[in-house]
Amino acid sequence: MANTYQRIETKLIHAGEPRPRIAGAIALPIFQSAMFEYAGEASYHDLRYIRLNNTPNHLTLHRKLAALENAEAALVTASGMAAISTTLLTLLKAGDHLLAQSCLYGGTHDLLTRNFKDFGLTFDFIDADDCSSWRAALRPNTRAIYVEAMTNPLLEVADLPGVVEFARGQGLISIIDNTFASPINFRPIERGFDVSLHSATKYLNGHSDIVGGAVVGRAEIIERVTHKLNHLGGAMDPHAAFLLNRGLKTLALRVRFQNDSALAIARFLASHPAVARVNYPGLESHPRHERARKLFDGFGGVLSFELKGSSEQAEALLHRTTLPAIAPSLGGVETLLTRPARTSHAGLSEGDRSRLGIADNLIRMSVGIEATEEILEDLARALG
Ligand code: PLP
Repeated sequence: MANTYQRIETKLIHAGEPRPRIAGAIALPIFQSAMFEYAGEASYHDLRYIRLNNTPNHLTLHRKLAALENAEAALVTASGMAAISTTLLTLLKAGDHLLAQSCLYGGTHDLLTRNFKDFGLTFDFIDADDCSSWRAALRPNTRAIYVEAMTNPLLEVADLPGVVEFARGQGLISIIDNTFASPINFRPIERGFDVSLHSATKYLNGHSDIVGGAVVGRAEIIERVTHKLNHLGGAMDPHAAFLLNRGLKTLALRVRFQNDSALAIARFLASHPAVARVNYPGLESHPRHERARKLFDGFGGVLSFELKGSSEQAEALLHRTTLPAIAPSLGGVETLLTRPARTSHAGLSEGDRSRLGIADNLIRMSVGIEATEEILEDLARALG
């Protein structure tokens, strides 16, 4: 069923949906039932029970998400962090070593730096832009390499084809967090990654009203992650699954609008005298613009910028805007502004932040689907 539809816009609506429709319902109903009648299932993992992530709402999402990234299989989880932690704890065992991109989402960074040792796991951060440096970081027990499609909050685009080639050459599992790109802009499995992860909280759902996650990849890997998730308990709630499926239907419309709007806003900011620097891979001035253009179908809805001024001035600017909400997170229909040093990357030490280039006056913007002109007017007023 997953491969019946050709184009991503059609897959978003129809892929994985039960046919014939259940009781003729055009929208898949919510299966708010913790357990289902025993129907002769042979294995524990096949019993139908919400924690085993296999109600019709879950199974529909699994088929749809696999189809969107042209993967064999997919799995939804209770949050993006449940997807990330369960995948890493499935693919790594005590004694194993991971290579990870140095500028990671704050939660993933904390998982590695604070929790990994409790599981007997080790890691090294690598400059994911410089493939010549990776071999020196390899150890005999290195099992996997972990990167993000675009980094948060600096929007760096690593040497992703290099990561796949290196992983294949060294027998490592390649894992990418594809949250920022979404399957509209990037489909990592097509490019040879073994596993693609998402915080479904962001673009996939797109309405800032659930937390969720997804793991996408080969069937054999997804089955192993599923069994681990069944034991760790990070299942998605059926109501969240219903909302995620509803949100997914407009993913292409939302993300393409956000791509265009973010590019226009990035161009405006880059030409503004009060702005010192803009990070957005769609700008020709971005150091990896060419790479991003080759890899991605769009540059995404997130950008960040530094003011010519202090962190207090950056904070004041946030509060002079009237349209965006001042909030962390991203990928929703409403425009959000945040200062990463105070929110998503507050868990990092000041030294770590400055080593990664995350200035205290850096502002991150997640562009929503409001009229671009109104966001520009609001920004112009606040900057003026
Ligand atoms: N990955 C990225 C790139 C993120 O930005 C986030 C959250 O901000 C996560 C993972 C974690 O997702 P969640 O908050 O759904 O657990």
